[in-house]
Amino acid sequence: MTQQSQSFADLGLKQPLLDALNKVGYSEPSPIQAQAIPHLLNRHDILGQAQTGTGKTAAFALPTLQNIDLSLRGVQVLVLAPTRELAIQVADAYKDYAQFMPKVNVLPIYGGADYRTQINGLKRGAQIVVGTPGRVMDHMEKGTLKLDNLQALVLDEADEMLRMGFIDDVEWVLSHTPQETQIALFSATMPAQIKAITEKYLKNEVVIQIAKKAETASTIEQFYLCVESSQKMAGLRQLLEIEDRDATIIFVNTKAMTEELASKLNYRGHKAAALNGDLQQKQRERVIDQLKKGMIDIVIATDVAARGIDVERISHVINYDLPHDSESYVHRIGRTGRAGRSGKTILLMTPRDRRSFGFIEKDTKTTIPMYPMPSLTDINAQRVAHFKQRIVSEMEHKNLEYLEQMLEEMYQNDDLDLISIAAALASMSLNNSPLLLGKRDTVASIDLATLSSRSSRQRDGRGRGRDRNKDNRRNRKDRDENQGDRVSREDMENYRLGVGYRDNIKPGHIVGAIANEAGIEGYNIGPINISDNHTDVMLPKGMPAEVLKHLQKTRINGKLSQIEQMDADTSASEGNNRKRSGGKDRRGNQERRNKRDFKKSPHKGRDGDKPVRRPRKKFD
Ligand code: AMP
Repeated sequence: MTQQSQSFADLGLKQPLLDALNKVGYSEPSPIQAQAIPHLLNRHDILGQAQTGTGKTAAFALPTLQNIDLSLRGVQVLVLAPTRELAIQVADAYKDYAQFMPKVNVLPIYGGADYRTQINGLKRGAQIVVGTPGRVMDHMEKGTLKLDNLQALVLDEADEMLRMGFIDDVEWVLSHTPQETQIALFSATMPAQIKAITEKYLKNEVVIQIAKKAETASTIEQFYLCVESSQKMAGLRQLLEIEDRDATIIFVNTKAMTEELASKLNYRGHKAAALNGDLQQKQRERVIDQLKKGMIDIVIATDVAARGIDVERISHVINYDLPHDSESYVHRIGRTGRAGRSGKTILLMTPRDRRSFGFIEKDTKTTIPMYPMPSLTDINAQRVAHFKQRIVSEMEHKNLEYLEQMLEEMYQNDDLDLISIAAALASMSLNNSPLLLGKRDTVASIDLATLSSRSSRQRDGRGRGRDRNKDNRRNRKDRDENQGDRVSREDMENYRLGVGYRDNIKPGHIVGAIANEAGIEGYNIGPINISDNHTDVMLPKGMPAEVLKHLQKTRINGKLSQIEQMDADTSASEGNNRKRSGGKDRRGNQERRNKRDFKKSPHKGRDGDKPVRRPRKKFD
């Protein structure tokens, strides 16, 4: 395409922006930028079907920046983004591009952060606001965010906003936007609800489709490594040793696991940190910053905490736990191979995961090959080469004069052989563990193709009759096993929360808050009885004090949960309680309002600005 050879100046961008682009090192526009920028500069509506990594942020940020009227105060550009991480990232991009436009004020606003700071920022006259839908709506309702001067509204990752349950809030914002506002909607996919929104709100939009990141997909090499579950940690260590890595993200499914792996890897000399929803926003930003600057090389993250991370030096993504679904797999691996760089992703799995793995392959239309584990000889050759390299680097970079003198003395006075002295020191530096691995120290992948014929029938879905029933039973078992340990009722204890019907509480609020904030799987949350002013719920015994403390500070529908543990008899004796799914909302039909209030609850701020809800089901 001729557009590829265009320069940013050819697209109509002015000098301050060209200077900024020069500074951030973009030499030529990406395809989406070449196609979108001229139309957005001409204030046309745009429907852009493109994923992250295509340069879509600059595609909307540059023209909307150029179009703002610097003499006007008040919000002229509003960008809605699904997560606070993305909101911060987009706001940072705007700031980078506006660095030679001194009068431009950019403000990110997102749930979970202090209102006052945001209100002050709005009062100071931010012209560009990048926010998550719930918080933007809150500010609009409070009257602290006014859209009278709005020139452009950008919906970034619209399908993500739909997936996270924000679409009502997005529509609400759209319906409160001045008629003549220019709208740019970006979405990787076009589900019916997004299509409906474009039909309703966009006018004569220019449609731009960037091919489904073919280049990115091909720049990410994907593999699986199948081992028995007892071998997963050994498999991970081996991968980390073999792979020539820059930065690595390791995905796990629980907050506890992020901590556990981080401490295990740090103990083994890696520079690793956990990234999970328990961390304050500032701490999360610090971890990402450290990763960017190379102060740490490995981040162990949960899906929600890692959403939107865009760090160019991430060369590897390792799935230590199988993702819950294909969508999350795609999202996870997209953390590498950014901006056209190459990346590698390895999914660690156990034979039990093969069915879910099959779904990932099917959904992503990819055949993921087995990780080509090097032979023992090759691994050992690499170990030797690395060790030699370390010795040489130590000789080059350290002042060893004093030690050299000392060894010279040993050599001269004690009549010791220099090579033997060096070998003894080398052994000491290895903490006396052997440099070379034996066969039993290494992990090999189980080849999925060689697993039993029944499982291969399962993989390509050809089970019939009796066999199929058997497979179904087995699948059910797989699924149950996948769910981890179910806690029995005897191993649960009573908790009482200080919120109830009068606070418009529904069972889903309770399950969502506990699952998200305490990390307890939905299926391990026992019966929930909601009364007028409190709610009883049974939870697995032995909740750590700090988790309970955190839950106490958690807000449900805007009210502190005030959760406390009860004596065994107290709640069982209560008579007029309602069951989890029974009972109607006493306050009558306020469903819609509740839903909105619920979405606005500060929960969504804690872990990715999303509404609390039951954890999504596993594959089947
Ligand atoms: P995005 O799709 O907006 O998330 O951008 C993905 C990455 O590409 C970001 O790290 C951008 O900084 C980078 N990027 C965007 N446009 C360009 C460009 N024209 N040249 C080089 N890098 C770019």
